Amino acid sequence: MRLLVLGGTGEARALAAALHPGHDVITSLAGRVRDPRLPVGQVRIGGFGGPAALAEWLRRESIDAVVDATHPFAERISASAATAAAQAGVPLVLLRRPGWAAGPGDVWHRVGSLDAAALAVASLGERVFLTTGRQGLAAFADCPQWFLIRCVDPPDPPLPARSEVVLARGPYTVDGETGLMREHSIDVLVTKDSGGPLTAAKLAAARDLGVPVVVVDRPAAPDVPVVDTVAAALAWLGVSNLSAG
Ligand code: NAP
Repeated sequence: MRLLVLGGTGEARALAAALHPGHDVITSLAGRVRDPRLPVGQVRIGGFGGPAALAEWLRRESIDAVVDATHPFAERISASAATAAAQAGVPLVLLRRPGWAAGPGDVWHRVGSLDAAALAVASLGERVFLTTGRQGLAAFADCPQWFLIRCVDPPDPPLPARSEVVLARGPYTVDGETGLMREHSIDVLVTKDSGGPLTAAKLAAARDLGVPVVVVDRPAAPDVPVVDTVAAALAWLGVSNLSAG
């Protein structure tokens, strides 16, 4: 099979590894991260130019199926892929890891957007650990609180006036997250509902420290078939791989 995997996640890398070398896999990355973790197999970098151009690309490359394994908050590419695959008559599945769920001891405030998160923070704390990534930080630009902003690459302004940026890439440990939050006297954590284990340690650290968490809900997924594990994506493709998780 000749497959397009829309990537940018650990699941996309795991899927490419499970399909390689038996299948012809092209993983596509947006090109936002300066030094991305690359999957095995072919990689293409950069946008396609919208759904019509992606549909044309799928036809030209004789792609048999598309797996959209992008991040749950990468809303535009998922919508574009759904439209393009339908236009090109190519089967598409969305591989989306489950969101996080609050457990005993968690104090979570779910909100619908980064703007709503900025409002929620105002009543919850003074020293904010902001882990929503480098896009969309303008929503917090007018907040008077102090922010510890963690992202992979340096964020673009505008940023909150009182802030410090720490550049890091997961996975993180509970001990590490607890130490970081203690060191900076964090009293509220802000996160997207990204799901998955790689960045979940901050949630356990917040629970242990009694720090409230503002969780930004995911945008709606497009109306396409959805699976939530790499193994299920392989099954959808009709490929067996016992080691995939
Ligand atoms: P987005 O807003 O959904 O996409 C913006 C545009 O970037 C798309 O319209 C598309 O351009 C291009 N694009 C995005 N992902 C692409 C891919 N995998 N391959 C080729 N083109 C892609 O996406 P985003 O939120 O900026 O995220 C960019 C990438 O980072 C995604 O691939 C995602 O998996 C990864 N990521 C995102 C987040 C997050 O919080 N948003 C977190 C971790 C990783 P064209 O319209 O020109 O095709």
